[in-house]
Amino acid sequence: MAEYGLVIHGGAGTILKEKMTPEREADYREQLGQSLKAGYDILDQGGPALDAVQAAVQVMEDSPLFNAGRGAVVTYVGHHELDASIMDGATREAGAVAAVQHIRNPIELARLVMEESPHVMMVGAGAEAFAASQNITRVDNTLFSTPERREALDAWKASQGSADLRKPFDADHKFGTVGAVARDRAGNLAAGTSTGGMTAKRYGRVGDSPIIGAGTWADNASCAVSATGHGEYFIRYHVAADICARVSYQGIDAGGAADAVIHDVLVPAGGAGGVIVMDRHGEVSMSFNTEGMYRASRTSRRALETAIFAKGVSGEQ
Ligand code: ASP
Repeated sequence: MAEYGLVIHGGAGTILKEKMTPEREADYREQLGQSLKAGYDILDQGGPALDAVQAAVQVMEDSPLFNAGRGAVVTYVGHHELDASIMDGATREAGAVAAVQHIRNPIELARLVMEESPHVMMVGAGAEAFAASQNITRVDNTLFSTPERREALDAWKASQGSADLRKPFDADHKFGTVGAVARDRAGNLAAGTSTGGMTAKRYGRVGDSPIIGAGTWADNASCAVSATGHGEYFIRYHVAADICARVSYQGIDAGGAADAVIHDVLVPAGGAGGVIVMDRHGEVSMSFNTEGMYRASRTSRRALETAIFAKGVSGEQ
């Protein structure tokens, strides 16, 4: 029987144990478990990796705990702009949407872009018009709002002496981008990522999550990757595709390739974040250079594991 499995993330950053209440930690682990189950059950029943990835991401988009769909961070002007992408490792087809404001599940729309249009990426009003043509119900932008994200915007604004655009963006003013990577029984890989981006983003800023090769990548010949972190760095260093290219060209394992990019490339550059990876043999790896990354995995060989903090922090395996 072919190895199959799913890995998910719910964002990376300064996730400090001392700032996390036991109740909140339990909520995160519970939601990660639900997302994982939604995707894994599909794989277990012989369904495709693409379906598993979409199902897992949708559960987290619908949860207010994560920075995707409900619970998305707030832009500088006070609303939510959502980005998502999905890629099929069997065909290298991909779909992405950016800066959408009225789509409940952006990952669903990204998949429709891939399957029902000749294009890879649609943005803003055009993406919303395409959604209407696909009978996707338009939702009010306030559906995505939570008090915590509003407070984060207020805190960010209060912390800024001036609105100097050249000031480095504080990568800690977000958290909770979500993503999934899967390998199905047929050996096909898929990856998907969905986010609200970064708190106080302006002028139609788009991060790495909907950029194929930066935040999302899948190729049956090497691996599937979903990223989370300071998007500008992930775009410039082409993180997701670089990891898989190293697997292909250097013949190294995916875990080693992920560590090399996340630690040896991104850290010196100043890029904070992490990735989840599923390789073509069904091997799982997760690499991050932040204090924590919400994550969970399950494969046909290994039982469900959820984790938040770095290994070794308060008993994390
Ligand atoms: N990568 C996302 C972005 O830059 C944010 C995140 O992963 O937290 O939009």
